[in-house]
Amino acid sequence: MRTKEDFAELLRRLHLGPQEQAERLSFLQWSAEDAQRLAAMAGAMDPAQQAFVDQLYDHLQNFATPAALLQSPQTIERLKHSQGSYYQDLWRGQFDEEYVNGRLRIGMIHQQVGLELKWYLGAYRLYLDRMLGELFTGHPQHQLYASLLKAVFFDISLALDTYSAAQHRALEDSEARFARALRGANDGLWDWHVEQDRLYVSERWASMLGISREAIGDASQGWFSRVHPDDLPGLRQAIEAHLQGRTALLHHEYRMRKRDGDYAWVLVRGVAEASGPDQQRMAGSQTDISARKSAEQHLQHAARHDPLTGLANRMRLDEQLQQALLRQGKVGAREAALLFVDLDRFKLINDSLGHAVGDRVLVEVAQRLKACLRPGDELFRFGGDEFVVLLDDLACAGDAERVAQRILDGLHHPLHLDERTLVVNASIGIAPLQERGKPLDALQAADLALYRAKAAGKAQFARYSEELQRAAQHHLDMESAMGQALDNGELELHYQPICQLQQGQVQLAGVEALLRWRSGERLISPLEFIPALEESGEIVRVGDWVLQQACRQVRAWQLAGQSQLRCSVNISSRQLQQASFIPRLIDILQDSGLPPASLILEITESQLMEDTAQTLVSLRELASLGVRLALDDFGTGYCSLGYLKRFPLHILKVDKSFIGGTPADGELSAISRAIIGLGHSLGLEVVAEGVERDAQLDFVRHEGCHYAQGYWFSKPLPGAELQALLGRPGAFAGAVAALPEVFARSSSTLPRSRVQQ
Ligand code: C2E
Ligand code: MG
Ligand code: MG
Repeated sequence: MRTKEDFAELLRRLHLGPQEQAERLSFLQWSAEDAQRLAAMAGAMDPAQQAFVDQLYDHLQNFATPAALLQSPQTIERLKHSQGSYYQDLWRGQFDEEYVNGRLRIGMIHQQVGLELKWYLGAYRLYLDRMLGELFTGHPQHQLYASLLKAVFFDISLALDTYSAAQHRALEDSEARFARALRGANDGLWDWHVEQDRLYVSERWASMLGISREAIGDASQGWFSRVHPDDLPGLRQAIEAHLQGRTALLHHEYRMRKRDGDYAWVLVRGVAEASGPDQQRMAGSQTDISARKSAEQHLQHAARHDPLTGLANRMRLDEQLQQALLRQGKVGAREAALLFVDLDRFKLINDSLGHAVGDRVLVEVAQRLKACLRPGDELFRFGGDEFVVLLDDLACAGDAERVAQRILDGLHHPLHLDERTLVVNASIGIAPLQERGKPLDALQAADLALYRAKAAGKAQFARYSEELQRAAQHHLDMESAMGQALDNGELELHYQPICQLQQGQVQLAGVEALLRWRSGERLISPLEFIPALEESGEIVRVGDWVLQQACRQVRAWQLAGQSQLRCSVNISSRQLQQASFIPRLIDILQDSGLPPASLILEITESQLMEDTAQTLVSLRELASLGVRLALDDFGTGYCSLGYLKRFPLHILKVDKSFIGGTPADGELSAISRAIIGLGHSLGLEVVAEGVERDAQLDFVRHEGCHYAQGYWFSKPLPGAELQALLGRPGAFAGAVAALPEVFARSSSTLPRSRVQQ
């Protein structure tokens, strides 16, 4: 029992202010004379009162309920004593604040010990009866008035009962309404006296956890001890923030331990209210939100995982990377690295075997990748055929390379899908999360390294380095500088003769237009800038310009006498993919007047493979125009021989890397021989590229190559220089022009070209 606090609360509830007290006394017609009258008799009444107190306690013993409360003689003595002093006070007639509080306190204690009002009131009647006897003994109406008192007191007790029953009923109604509403809301209720740490929770509050209210107890410990340890600080903070007025409402989600040891997610809502100076009281509801939480978690999972492979996705990678970087920032952290894994030529599988097979391959690859990792490593599907591995806690940087190698080995085993057997390879870029103690954009760095691994021939890994970064930067700079090159007139075309080899004769048959970039003093090779042009897409505009220039130039030479001169122009697959390419080519041919049959479009083997369906359509259309098509750099691009038949090709250009090895290198000679033979058997014209030396010319001629190109004849020259060469007296007489002196002799007797060394 907390009498002091309860009494304070009782006072607050009663609103028994001075005005109310005055009004009551006035209704009773209480006056100063009354007080004087009583006080004057107080002493004289004392013995009778004392006698009455004894009589009262004897009387009470006759009734079971009060008798039960009055068992110890000491209690009875104490009560009698205070009862006696009370009567003395009553006769003093001083109804001040102290008096009123004293009465209220006694009333409250009686109520708390369980003494019903009827005994309490009844005692007053007995007292009045006794006082009546004392004052009016022998008066004829004494008995009558005593009877009236009994009747009135009986009624008083009835009136009190009706009042309190009605109040009770209203309270019960409101409680029942409240209870029904709560059952509907299915929320638990709580009420917490913060300073006194007195907690009340409803049945429902406890049953959410599968326990009874008793198990919670009546202190906050019963609540907080069930909160998930990870959530407890957050809950306490939320409560504190609200108690300090920093939040308008307590609204917090956290987990609570259930009877079976599992945790339920709950939402607590509540408001605080000052119940007195330094007295805070908070109350509110608690809702079981486990179902919602699990749906949310499900969604969260779905947003962060790839449905096909079940792996975490890019979103999750971003989060995990952030965390890994934070860990890296701590002292003593071990190395961490990112592997960017990209399948080689996966598009081919998708295009040729369909997406369903492609999907199965991805699922299998995901399994294999997982099998290559340690428990702490994390695997993500980045998108398409790209996977990322986050390697945390590495003993040394070299470990990442070991994992990469393990992945390459693991993937390399043939993959059996139904009756089909596939070999899937991947390229991997490796980057540390930090470089020299500074965080790196590891994803970008690993991507860069991946690019490098691909460029170096695929099915391998490459590690990020600053040098790679510099090269990429250079590439980027090149790209932006190239953007202006065409408009600034910095591009020019050089032309390299292509000669026909016929019975000991070499004759000029055509020229290949080769692009040059004059940047300041430097003349930059297309090998350096073509990739940048292709990546930026600028190749489309530049290629258009090349085509136009070359057609015009060769047509001019044709008109000047080289009527059979053919014009070879390199094109990129990006150009072929443009729907406008063919109409534009027709325009150029018409404008320049060059016959379509004089134009040879060269496309490299690797580019031909890039977008086969679309490329095939364009090439067929080109062929139908009468334009000739050459497969450039043949032998370097893994072209499957089946493809050669599918494309409408006329010319095969044997790459200079093979010809350069002839005839000394037996292997390269054998490959060159085989390629030339292949071209022949497919009915294609064969051009040998990169003929530099007599022995090479002898070799290709001996193998029956129709055409050759290389420094032996001439380096690529600016148009004007080549023109000067062509314009030598007697150089272009006849239908098929004999070459100028330098070209016109049989190669075996011919000294090396003096035209350009
Ligand atoms: P490509 O089409 O195979 O051109 C032949 C390359 O071999 C030229 O290099 C040429 O200078 C070089 N070459 C010719 N004879 C010899 C020789 O005897 N020895 C050696 N070592 N090299 C020889 P270039 O001009 O540097 O061009 C490189 C590549 O750039 C070309 O290879 C072609 O694929 C590409 N390219 C050039 N111009 C264009 C263009 O306008 N558009 C496109 N898309 N690509 C172009
Ligand atoms: Mg070429
Ligand atoms: Mg070539």
